[in-house]
Amino acid sequence: MTTVGFIGLGIMGSPMASNLLRAGFDVIGYDLVESSLERLTGEGGQVAESVARATSDADVVITMLPNFPQVEAVAFGEGGVLDSAKPGLLYIDMSSIRPQTSRRIAEEGAERGVRVLDAPVSGGERGAIDGVLSIMVGGAPEDFAAAAAVFEPLGRTIVHVGPAGAGQTVKAANQLVVGGTYALVAEAIVLLEASGLDAGLGLDVLAGGLAGSRILELKRRTMVERRFEPGFRIDLHHKDMGIVLDAAREAEVALPVGGLVAQLIASARAQGHGQLDHSALLKVAENLSGR
Ligand code: NAD
Repeated sequence: MTTVGFIGLGIMGSPMASNLLRAGFDVIGYDLVESSLERLTGEGGQVAESVARATSDADVVITMLPNFPQVEAVAFGEGGVLDSAKPGLLYIDMSSIRPQTSRRIAEEGAERGVRVLDAPVSGGERGAIDGVLSIMVGGAPEDFAAAAAVFEPLGRTIVHVGPAGAGQTVKAANQLVVGGTYALVAEAIVLLEASGLDAGLGLDVLAGGLAGSRILELKRRTMVERRFEPGFRIDLHHKDMGIVLDAAREAEVALPVGGLVAQLIASARAQGHGQLDHSALLKVAENLSGR
C-alpha cells in the first residue's frame, strides 16, 4: 500500500485527500488548523502532529499550501519534508507558488535523494471534489511517470509541461486567463443590468456561444445572485497575479491586460474583499460605474 503524507488540508487539500483515500491510498495528513483534520479522520485517514510525522513513513508527500513562504517552511524547515524524507521519497508540491521556489526544492531534493515535482492545479473546489482537476506538472519525466497513480484520482487533464518550475509557469498563465475572464464577465453583468436587462438570461446565451467558458458555466448564477463565498479567495488570486507579473518580467514580455487585471484584484482586496471568492471582482466593476 502506498502511503501519502498530505500537508495542507484546506479548501483544495481536504477533498483531494478524500479522493486519495477513496482510491485506496493510506493518507496521513497534517494541517495547522484542527478543524481541517477532522474530515480526514472521519474518512479513514490518519492525522500527524507534525510535518516530520506526516513525512517519515510516507512514499509520497503532497503539499497544498497557500503560498511560497508556507511551502518553504514545510519543505526546508527543521523537521521539514526534505529533512524527514525516507530515501526515494516522491515529493509533489501542488500549491500555486513562484517557480523559483519549485526549482529550489527540486535542486535541494536531488541533493538528498528526494524526487520532486511541482504540480499546481486548476478546476477549483468543484474540480477537487469531483477529482477532475487539470494538473500541470514540472519535473523529470521519470518522476512524472512514477506519480501517475497518485494523480489519477485527483485529475482528468494531467500534463507534464516541462522541467522543475514549468508547472508553476503554466499555472501563472492559467491565472492570467481566469482573472481576465472574471473581470470581463463582471463588466458584462454591469452592462446588462445597467441596460435594464436580465443579466442571468443574457449570460445563459453567452455561455452557449463563443464567449462560453467554464467560468460562465459554473459561476454565472452565483455572480448574478451576488454569492461570493469562496471557492478561491481574492487574496490567493492577488498572490497569483504577482507570480504572473514576475514571470512576465523574467521572460521579458509585456502583459498589459494582465497588469490591469492585477490592479482590479488589488482594488478588490483594498476594499476589504480579500476573503471573498474571486468572482467578487463584480464588486469592483460595479464600484467603477457607481452602482
Ligand atoms: P486554504 O487556505 O483553504 O488551505 C490551505 C491550508 O494550508 C489551510 O488549511 C492552512 O491551515 C494550511 N496551512 C498553512 N500553513 C501551513 C503549515 N505551515 N503547515 C501545515 N498546514 C498549513 O487554500 P486553498 O484554497 O486550499 O489553496 C491552496 C493552494 O491551492 C493555494 O496555493 C491556491 O492558490 C491553490 N489553488 C486553490 C484553488 C481554489 O479554488 N481554492 C484552485 C487552484 C489552486
